[in-house]
Amino acid sequence: MSINIENIRALFPVLHQEVNGKPLVYLDNAATTQKPISVIEALTEYYYKDNSNIHRGAHTLADRATGYFENTRALVRDFIHAKEAAEVIFTKGTTESINLVASTFGRKFIEKGDEIIISTLEHHANIVPWQMLCDEKGALLKIIPIKDNGEILMEEYEKLLSNKTKLVSIVHASNTLGTINPVKEIIAKAHAVGAKVLLDGAQSTSHLEIDVQDLDCDFLAFSAHKLYGPTGLGILYGKRELLESMPPYQGGGEMIKEVSFEKTIYNVLPFKFEAGTPNIADVIAFQKALEFISGLGKKNILAHETRLLEYATEKLAEIKGFVPVGTAKEKVSVISFNIKDMHPFDVGMMLDANGIAVRTGTHCTQPLIKRLGIEGTVRASFAVYNTESEIDKLVESVAKIAKIKN
Ligand code: PLP
Repeated sequence: MSINIENIRALFPVLHQEVNGKPLVYLDNAATTQKPISVIEALTEYYYKDNSNIHRGAHTLADRATGYFENTRALVRDFIHAKEAAEVIFTKGTTESINLVASTFGRKFIEKGDEIIISTLEHHANIVPWQMLCDEKGALLKIIPIKDNGEILMEEYEKLLSNKTKLVSIVHASNTLGTINPVKEIIAKAHAVGAKVLLDGAQSTSHLEIDVQDLDCDFLAFSAHKLYGPTGLGILYGKRELLESMPPYQGGGEMIKEVSFEKTIYNVLPFKFEAGTPNIADVIAFQKALEFISGLGKKNILAHETRLLEYATEKLAEIKGFVPVGTAKEKVSVISFNIKDMHPFDVGMMLDANGIAVRTGTHCTQPLIKRLGIEGTVRASFAVYNTESEIDKLVESVAKIAKIKN
């Protein structure tokens, strides 16, 4: 089945506007994707018709909201092929999901002298929580180096693994370069030394088919807002036995079964990790985003995005002064680049003047940018609603900008 992009674009109101007098070309999807009408309407419908607190009310509205909320959890389970819905925990985002693991798995299982492995490609959200944990515990953070093209060096990874390794926390697809890491192999090698693996799926879940059981990852963290869903909502998947063995993240209502001043008994999964009133409206609306994706089919989405990636890569390469950054063989639809003798921020501003939205800078990956020996990049990232004619506009604008100095 091929997808009809014009029909898809009709579902996204935000795309139909002018920016700086030009039709908007939104190519900042790695930062956040736009939302279809179904998601926007689900948010307002919830507040119009169903608003109430969940899991505890003995009335119709509370029952209804609880049903919708838990239905999203079941859809997330299907989306990532988890064994059970109780392994799906709602958080604020990828960042909070990683912090949850660092703070609870870390508190229980990381000791002085233990080692945690991450890679040079990581987003700050998958660096700083581990630095904080290592500082607190006297553990060591080890970094997998990369090749100049943005692929990690697997031989070096293998050399870092030992019986001291307790956790490998690695990005599935790089937000800055698009590199897709060979995560199945990374996970198997970590498990061979007894280490657990957390996958940062912030950029992979919108493009790639994800099967946590097949990958055998111990944790997966991702954000709804990069998946055509609302902001302020993330997911942490964890294997049941691990989640059971970890202490709670925050204390409060919902995460308890029984409280007395002497002793508190914690709730069962997933509620043990969901203290307080959750982000009910956004969880409920996220269901519509998951339905949007499954309606199109991940395979079709990926095929379209890969076509755009290949087309843009080929056309941009013809421009004098165009310098691609990150040329891994396996990539999601992200193109990072620089224009010779120009600052990425200036390029971004000039593209914006033409209605083209990209991101510029270090993309929350300062150590990666430093390793590449550059100041930053311009990043264009594609989603299912982008078109070839939008790529043509990008190429045309980049060519004009490059001519200023090349
Ligand atoms: N990890 C990666 C690879 C990302 O791209 C991002 C966001 O850009 C994050 C983590 C953090 O996600 P959030 O800001 O939604 O928590």
